[in-house]
Amino acid sequence: MTFAAVIVAAGSGSRAGGAPKQWRMLNGRAVARWSMDAFRAAGAKPIVVVVAQDQRDEAERWLSDVGAVIVTGGATRTASVRAGLAAVGAVEAVMIHDAARPLLSPIHIQALLAALAEADGALPALLVADTLKRDGANGAETVDREGLWRAQTPQAFRLAPLLDAYARWPGDAPATDDAAVLEAAGGRVALIPGDPRLMKITHPEDFAMVEQLAGGARVTRVGQGFDAHRFGPGDGVWLCGVKIAHDLTLIGHSDADAGLHALTDAILGAIGAGDIGDHFPPSDPQWKGASSDRFLQHAVDLVAARGGRVVNVDVTLICEQPRIKPHREAMRVRLAEILALPLDRISVKATTTEGMGFTGRSEGLAAQALATIDMPA
Ligand code: MG
Repeated sequence: MTFAAVIVAAGSGSRAGGAPKQWRMLNGRAVARWSMDAFRAAGAKPIVVVVAQDQRDEAERWLSDVGAVIVTGGATRTASVRAGLAAVGAVEAVMIHDAARPLLSPIHIQALLAALAEADGALPALLVADTLKRDGANGAETVDREGLWRAQTPQAFRLAPLLDAYARWPGDAPATDDAAVLEAAGGRVALIPGDPRLMKITHPEDFAMVEQLAGGARVTRVGQGFDAHRFGPGDGVWLCGVKIAHDLTLIGHSDADAGLHALTDAILGAIGAGDIGDHFPPSDPQWKGASSDRFLQHAVDLVAARGGRVVNVDVTLICEQPRIKPHREAMRVRLAEILALPLDRISVKATTTEGMGFTGRSEGLAAQALATIDMPA
């Protein structure tokens, strides 16, 4: 049976954190490339990849060498699938797949093709194993899970009935999957055994799980950072993303948040990506007075783009003044927000140098930080 594939890769992927998930690196290949390679190995032709307009360059970069037909999607998943279907040409069947499910194998594809012998559509699905609850007016209520399945992709269809079903589907009315469109038109969709490996990358923690399932080894990396700024006349200091009222300020090109600068350098250090000055040169006027949380966010994004994640951070602020302790929890909460980590992965400590040195004389304030990063080996 001749068949095409439509890989839907038009999402922004923001729930998974960092760069759009379909272009993040998974054991040396972009996420979307994994599905592309599985469809190629199974004989799909053409393979149409639907992307957002602003991601065409990424798609070309990762997929053009293997002959992907790259198509611009629409505002909704339904519109994107319609755009993909318009490009498949004359084939007997089509498989529609979410790029965020990278661990597709040719075996899944062959099983779906076989199922099309007796149905207009077929999809992999897993029986719901957990007890289902609804959070009702009086607390938890148990929902009968009998006969309920979790639908995965790819979903396979005979092309003619699917095109007919989409022609009858109202405009961009939301359909969470394509089988629903065929079902609405009266087509028969068969369920075949799903596979936990076909999980969808949705939340930040899913990425590490997919990497483990993909069999890639991981390593823990450590980076350290140090920074110091001089005190000058003012009305407060920024430290670890929190403004503290004080009779001095810290002098610097940006907001002089030594805590965030040390932490940013620690993360950059762990991935061998230079230091904060390389990424945000003090000579560049656009960083004058900049809020330093953007520097930290940039370092976190670089980690994510390499398939890594920050595991924990530990910041030590070194000063005689201002008093840090009353603000420590607010700093931890702010760092937890920026890093998207639970609070127990974030440490902020403070010490003095007992009157010795530049911090002891309150000429300035210093900070040091350590970050551990979980990365593909
Ligand atoms: Mg600095």
